[in-house]
Amino acid sequence: MHLTDLNRQGGIGANSLLLEIGPFRVLVDAGLHPKEVGTEALPDLARLDEYALDLILVTHCHLDHLGGLPLVARRHPEAEIWLSYESSVLAPRMMRNSIRVMSRQREEQGVSEYPLYTEREVRQLEDRFHAVPTGRPEAFHQHGEELTVEFLHAGHVPGAVSLRLTHGGQSVLFSGDILFTDQRILPGADPKEAGHADVLVLETTRGASAREPGQDRESEVQRLIESVAATVRAGGSVLLPVFALGRMQEILTILAEAVRRRQIPEVPVYASGLGMDLANYFDELSRKNRPLRFRRQILRELKLQKTPRAIEPGRPPPGPAIYVASSGMVVENTPSYQLAAALLGDPGNLLAFVGYCDPEAPGYAILQSRPGETLLFDALDYTTVRRARVERFDLSGHADREELLDYAIRVNPHTVVLSHGDPEARAWFEEELYASVLDAQVIDPEPGVRISL
Ligand SMILES: [Zn+2]
Ligand SMILES: [Zn+2]
Repeated sequence: MHLTDLNRQGGIGANSLLLEIGPFRVLVDAGLHPKEVGTEALPDLARLDEYALDLILVTHCHLDHLGGLPLVARRHPEAEIWLSYESSVLAPRMMRNSIRVMSRQREEQGVSEYPLYTEREVRQLEDRFHAVPTGRPEAFHQHGEELTVEFLHAGHVPGAVSLRLTHGGQSVLFSGDILFTDQRILPGADPKEAGHADVLVLETTRGASAREPGQDRESEVQRLIESVAATVRAGGSVLLPVFALGRMQEILTILAEAVRRRQIPEVPVYASGLGMDLANYFDELSRKNRPLRFRRQILRELKLQKTPRAIEPGRPPPGPAIYVASSGMVVENTPSYQLAAALLGDPGNLLAFVGYCDPEAPGYAILQSRPGETLLFDALDYTTVRRARVERFDLSGHADREELLDYAIRVNPHTVVLSHGDPEARAWFEEELYASVLDAQVIDPEPGVRISL
């Protein structure tokens, strides 16, 4: 079996892995890099041109895994596209949003190749989707042979799966983005379900950060609730930058619960955009007896309002209020970027980060800043002195590094391939896996290099 990492930039970037197993050529994910622009944001798709692809598998609908799918599909009309039922519902919505963002970037930043695909292509793509149930192996036939594919619930966001592929006595497990702890809206992945695999392709997102002793998800939820409550009671406003898919609905559910229990006073709550639309999809999926538990009703309970459109830097909208806004990494030209610029100058306000932040993203600079420091909001041509409190709460959608280590030991592969992590994160896993009881080779694949497994 051979594996090629098509993510050109390394790190988390545009996820895409080509697996050659027996006669089968399988592509796992086709993402868009969240910070690169134009064709640079794509995985190295030219590498796929030489041969036909049999199968494209999608682990989940975050754009760093899904955003490049229409381009791969266009080049490979012969390939079947397999994804979970939830992902088959959510993917078109995510890709349509991506088209909208790209069209805006074309206008604002003059990216002439944008959008990279059209609404029509997304519609046609839907006809090629095959929704695979989780926890039940499914056979894929081609070349007169059989490849067994099993989707396992991954707990990261609704529809997220790990993938187990078996052919000719060889097995490979792709963890995908994975979370073992239960969230309010979604149960965690069960590491026991993974079973044994010869090769494990492991996400390493949190490799560079240790969890504080005595701290767990529930204690972090309570700490968040107390911080939000204290801020709004004193008349300040709170900004929670979140990813639209999964994290926004989780945070809104936590807030609704806290308001119901009178832990947080009733103040205006604002959210808008893609995350609100996805909330409707989540509600429908929840009714279909999926593991997902989300009810649209909580939006009414929170008396949720649309985020005001005209937010000016340095002129914070009247508080107290709670803003739940994407992007989670406070990327330029997003509601959370505008709101951060508006709220950071006031010592009464709070910016509460609840998920992963890329070291290059504006959110990371905010997280690292000290009170009194000057922060530049380049895209708004605005600088502000940071006076607001900035806190981080560990409510990530990714498993702890220690949990992933245990998971790898349980899977007991002869080879672990590291993926989806910054260099320091991968380095931690490489060292710890070698130091562990696991007798496995650890590979940190170089982008574009075909490795034998
Ligand atoms: Zn993800
Ligand atoms: Zn990811």
